[in-house]
Amino acid sequence: MDMEQHMTMRRIGIVSLFCVAVLTCFLWAAETKAEATKVVVIDAGHGGGDHGVAIGDKLYEKDITLKVARLIEKDMAHVPGVQVKLTRSTDREMSSAQRVSAIKALRPDALISIHVNAGFGKDASGFEFYFPGFAKSTKADDGSQEIIRDMGRTRSLNESVRLAQVLEKYLGNVFPRKGRGLREAPMALLEGIDVPAVVVEMGFATNPEERKLLADEKTEEMLAREMAAAIKAYLQ
Ligand SMILES: [Zn+2]
Repeated sequence: MDMEQHMTMRRIGIVSLFCVAVLTCFLWAAETKAEATKVVVIDAGHGGGDHGVAIGDKLYEKDITLKVARLIEKDMAHVPGVQVKLTRSTDREMSSAQRVSAIKALRPDALISIHVNAGFGKDASGFEFYFPGFAKSTKADDGSQEIIRDMGRTRSLNESVRLAQVLEKYLGNVFPRKGRGLREAPMALLEGIDVPAVVVEMGFATNPEERKLLADEKTEEMLAREMAAAIKAYLQ
């Protein structure tokens, strides 16, 4: 082996070592990211002058959603690897745009927006879930970047459905046989948020029995406990 061959071998050796070091760092970083804390945002619907539907005398949807959101936050406070954050933790009004930018700033791994249903007559009852529709993401007519973005969006939508299914199972422990299913609908709050996201309508304020239950602290605690359990199950 002459001097030049020797130098070439040395260079190859150094380059290989460098490659192994880079790969090790990359794998380590990937693993660390996988174990990083997951952020789940709970969005308490309505607030301030935006009361939402009336539940009782001076009791509104905005109060129930805030109570349940804060209870979920409390229930999840000591769960390792998960951090629950709220879009609002006080009785204040927020526009959809304000919520969207608050949610984006929190960079969540999942979003659950909680509400109380109303309408369809006083016999309508039960809980249901809304997630953003697939319709908007089907056409990609301007190149590969659009397709990649759509794939990310489709992944989020599939995950939204999975999140809704897990929540449905757990809320069935609070209101047995009251699940009204999963509904696909365009939602101002969920458009432009590319994370697994679900709107939960916990029950009907227009149904006398459910109105009473929703105003009851015991039910609110149960709703929060089951949703916290669902979040844990979903993230596992
Ligand atoms: Zn609402």
